[in-house]
Amino acid sequence: MNAVEVDPERRTARVGAGATWGEFDRATQEHGLATTGGRVSTTGVAGLTLGGGSGWLERRYGLACDNLVSVDLVTADGRTVTASEDEHPELFWALHGGGGNFGIATSFEFAVHPVGPEVLAGLLLWPGDAGYEVGRAYRDMAFDAPDELGSALVFLTGPPEEFIPVHLQGQTLAAIAILWAGDVTDGEDAIADLRALGPEVDLVGPMPYTEFQCMIDDPPGLGNYWSADYHDTFPDEALDTFVKYGFERPSPVSQQILVPWGGAIARVSDEATPMTHRDVRWISHPFAMWDVAEDATANIDWAQSFRRDIAAHTNGGVYLNFIGHEGEERIKAAFGDAKFRRLQQVKADWDPSNVFQGNQNIRPATS
Ligand SMILES: Cc1cc2nc3c(=O)[nH]c(=O)nc-3n(C[C@H](O)[C@H](O)[C@H](O)COP(=O)(O)OP(=O)(O)OC[C@H]3O[C@@H](n4cnc5c(N)ncnc54)[C@H](O)[C@@H]3O)c2cc1C
Repeated sequence: MNAVEVDPERRTARVGAGATWGEFDRATQEHGLATTGGRVSTTGVAGLTLGGGSGWLERRYGLACDNLVSVDLVTADGRTVTASEDEHPELFWALHGGGGNFGIATSFEFAVHPVGPEVLAGLLLWPGDAGYEVGRAYRDMAFDAPDELGSALVFLTGPPEEFIPVHLQGQTLAAIAILWAGDVTDGEDAIADLRALGPEVDLVGPMPYTEFQCMIDDPPGLGNYWSADYHDTFPDEALDTFVKYGFERPSPVSQQILVPWGGAIARVSDEATPMTHRDVRWISHPFAMWDVAEDATANIDWAQSFRRDIAAHTNGGVYLNFIGHEGEERIKAAFGDAKFRRLQQVKADWDPSNVFQGNQNIRPATS
């Protein structure tokens, strides 16, 4: 279930639904190819893709689901079917972000693209106090940067690693994560303005794509609560709120993340997939994690409180892979009313008894 077969001539890869992105990336990179996958190598290809699939390559090559050629599935009544643009196209449409609602995927076929094997990637790090200035400069360039620039603004705690100066270990840091999906020299030029902001630690350099894809893997066993919102703009007031919560993270493993969309994501037409707000500029993503159960409440409260304080700057939409179970209204917000009803109809056609409900559940339409 985790096999990956690459066809370098056709530039496609077929992957079993049990594979992780680490397994997929290692197999496709043997041919210098890749498609947009998760930012953490242990994430499953299946769940991430069915939910849309956001990753560092998305501004160049679209979301993971935008690269789907076909999906093999077992349906609620036990049939095996292939969904593609030619076979069961309405089901195929629903699999572009509608989640695990419509069947159990057994394999996926993706379009893959030349990437690396060496890319310009890594982290630029500043003491947290610099985050107000760095955040403004980043916000003013990242969305309009060339499609090759995948990036994020992250508030995190300096880990006790030898590449972090001792005075920054255990402190709140502002980081810009970078992956340039193109020529390394062009990438150096594109990030020159960020480097001019004087990061105290510069970990950006040429490295294997597969290495960067594992660089922010978190240790197993942490408790998690994440949420997210879409933003059409991210004015100074929103940025100040974002930074404030970056400092107020109750746990050193929690992170406060801001991701720009745009590029190839925005060039996919609104009708092509169930996902809405393709033209959104920013996603804020409080990513609460903790390693002892007693810290759960404080971390969850932190993420929820951030959402309340940033609410005036959101557009009401959400990317479902970046949230947990927050109720049906939030699921509707990811698709909009018309597309949600269309998904409910697909659900009624393929899973009328709602067998597949351990997910961001879309209940079948009733006649
Ligand atoms: C550390 C971490 C980092 C992440 N980073 C990203 C990121 O960069 N970009 C992003 O878009 N998301 C990211 N996510 C969110 C991730 O996409 C979702 O949590 C996704 O559901 C995980 O899928 P999975 O297959 O790994 O998990 P699982 O727990 O196996 O599955 C989660 C759900 O996916 C569905 N599903 C899984 N397999 C199948 C299948 N074979 N057929 C049908 N449905 C299936 C089911 O509804 C299932 O309940 C991240 C999550 C974590 C924990």
